[in-house]
Amino acid sequence: CGIAGCILKDSEAAPVLLNCLKRLEYRGYDSVGMATLNGSKIYIKKDSGKIDEVSKRLNFLELPGKMGIGHVRWATHGPPTQFNAHPHSDCNNEIVVVHNGIIENFNELKKELIKEGHKFRSETDTEVIAHLIEKYLKESKNLEEAARKTAKRLKGSYALLIMSVHEPDKIIGMRNESPLVVGISDHGLFLASDMPAVLEHTNKFIHLDEREMAIITNDDVVIKNFDGEIINKEIKEVDWTP
Ligand code: GLU
Repeated sequence: CGIAGCILKDSEAAPVLLNCLKRLEYRGYDSVGMATLNGSKIYIKKDSGKIDEVSKRLNFLELPGKMGIGHVRWATHGPPTQFNAHPHSDCNNEIVVVHNGIIENFNELKKELIKEGHKFRSETDTEVIAHLIEKYLKESKNLEEAARKTAKRLKGSYALLIMSVHEPDKIIGMRNESPLVVGISDHGLFLASDMPAVLEHTNKFIHLDEREMAIITNDDVVIKNFDGEIINKEIKEVDWTP
């Protein structure tokens, strides 16, 4: 029920992400998970339970790398179990996603993907997103284009964060009927379902509108619509003292 992601310049992502997830606790959740990307490998830790308990038991802080995505889950499809906790990945663990919202047509998409040979590991609606990106990546010039093709197949609500070993320098965020903001600081770039998740790190934000996507890298953020056209957005400063 909350997502956060970051690409940091000089520090490890795991402790920062963990802190962001704790700020999303108030939304209510039953499971928690994180994935980081280091070199060209993805590391995932996740389970059902409370943030402090799960992160201590699974050693979230050991997740290596300066970029990552995290999730606190409020289960809508599939009970709160380890397999159903986010992040979810494709068949080869090369693409990871976290998702807030509900994919209404996941059943038909899942049937189609299973027919094409995709193996599913969870009962969530979310997992189809990772497999769709995997499918479309084969016929797209990059991750961004595969993400847009995927979005065109999805019915329902989503705030999504996507990372892939094929483009290990970026996180893509997408929104449709579920809020998503970009946080901009000197130490790195953030994506989150709401501002309080990252207010400790920055007060500069870009608010994504419906059917917009953000592509963040180490030092740049680009906002596009779902047709791939660049949108000029205003960076807003929030008046907030910790
Ligand atoms: N529908 C997804 C699930 O059940 C995401 C729920 C959420 O927003 O936490 O896993």
